[in-house]
Amino acid sequence: MPIYEYAPIDPLGCALCCYGFDVLQRLADVPLTRCSACGTPVRRVIGAAQVIAGHAHVLREQHVAKHGFTQYRRVGKGKYEKTAGKGPDTISGD
Ligand SMILES: [Zn+2]
Repeated sequence: MPIYEYAPIDPLGCALCCYGFDVLQRLADVPLTRCSACGTPVRRVIGAAQVIAGHAHVLREQHVAKHGFTQYRRVGKGKYEKTAGKGPDTISGD
């Protein structure tokens, strides 16, 4: 299952969500909209959770592609580059 990173829309969160947090979810799961601890509205940060250094990262990408997921890594402000799976090679948040 992919890990998604969430960040609070309003920076005033609790200890769990104020710096963002990771959630293991199925691709089909509905994205969280609120912190489960304090109820602060949160949004999913696409790609940010996949920035992992070293060999584990490569294995993880292969795993992701094998299961039909598409994975992106952040390459700049609002820009993401595909590292595994099918889909557009890059995503721009602009
Ligand atoms: Zn919270």
